[in-house]
Amino acid sequence: MPDLSRRARSLGTENAFVVLAEVNALARQGKDIISFCIGQPDFPAPDNVQEAAIRAIKGGKHGYTPSAGIDELRTAAAKYMAGLRGGLPIRPEDVVVGAGAKPFIAYAVLSTTDYGAGDEVIYPNPGFPIYESQIVANGARPVPIHLHEARDFAFDPAELERLITPKTRLLILNYPHNPTGGLLARRDLEAIAAILRKHPQVWIYADEIYSRLCYTGEFFSIAQVPGMYERTIISDGASKTWAMTGWRIGFTSNPVLAPVFTRWITNTESCASQISQWAALEAITGPQDAAAMMRASFLERRDLIVGLLNKVPGVACRNPGGAFYVWPNVTEACRMIGVADSEEFRQRLLHEAGVALLADIHFGTRVPGEGQHVRFSYAASRQAIEQGVARMAEFIRKNIQKAA
Ligand code: PMP
Repeated sequence: MPDLSRRARSLGTENAFVVLAEVNALARQGKDIISFCIGQPDFPAPDNVQEAAIRAIKGGKHGYTPSAGIDELRTAAAKYMAGLRGGLPIRPEDVVVGAGAKPFIAYAVLSTTDYGAGDEVIYPNPGFPIYESQIVANGARPVPIHLHEARDFAFDPAELERLITPKTRLLILNYPHNPTGGLLARRDLEAIAAILRKHPQVWIYADEIYSRLCYTGEFFSIAQVPGMYERTIISDGASKTWAMTGWRIGFTSNPVLAPVFTRWITNTESCASQISQWAALEAITGPQDAAAMMRASFLERRDLIVGLLNKVPGVACRNPGGAFYVWPNVTEACRMIGVADSEEFRQRLLHEAGVALLADIHFGTRVPGEGQHVRFSYAASRQAIEQGVARMAEFIRKNIQKAA
């Protein structure tokens, strides 16, 4: 049998999809499972967006588009991204539309590092697993920067200073953050920028896909800090803001890299779906009531789940500033019921109580000294949240009795 490439062998995955398959198999066996695994809004795309897609289909918008996207969407996305970020000077030609924001993670790594050259990429740990996967598969060196519970799951800028070397080419930031829901405060972003000014060889990939799901004041991007705009790749998209995950529209901006990303797209998917592009144009430029309603609903559910989790024995949950994730600390619960770690906790909770979560190990290696965590995506109904957390509390109580 011919060999696979090193690249193919080292390509990682999103373990959420692996757990999801496990959950679906249990559900098919007739098990009653409440799932908090999926990181996507539990709403349909807004009606005006659906209608725009149908108009595009009926109006013959069936062909390829330019690789960077239709001019109308690039123009609207430039204005939208700038408006959300203090009026940055983003021009339509700086924006590239892709099939989701995800492909730009790979394009950013591919465009700023060389295979096997020792180029380093710093990325958050825990974090969205695709960062590490793309860094490793593309022959760069992965350098995780640890997030700390005591900082509400931000990293310490002093740690960044220690990790940067002359070989560092790219720093990946993500706020609001998957999986913790944490933010990087403006003062942290300013401290990060102050460090980066001393290292002009470092690009920034600002994964701002959850920019509209920020619950503490106005969203603020590192690209707004003086001197950072030109070197920051701003990544945003339609998936989370307008409940369009399956429509596959992301938009990324950088004045230097836009033509480079465009060439990657010409070499891969050619362009994002034309139908989805017209729908995303409507999402951006049309009424924002649905987006506002969804945000309000996530915020309500955040308050609900944080309140409930903090009443569960052995569980401590910070109040996250954004996205639709909570990252409760279950170290004490694991100890109380005698399980080794968060992954054993997750498995037993799934099989014995019918509650599906992800564990910290699905988002990187566990941070030393930070204990055990699990991730709930609270884009689930109020009833699912109430019942799911009640089942978890009951599971822990029952097993404490057994352990005692
Ligand atoms: N970045 C982060 C942090 C995410 O959580 C996700 C989706 N789960 C993405 C990027 C990709 O989003 P999409 O490709 O749907 O735009």
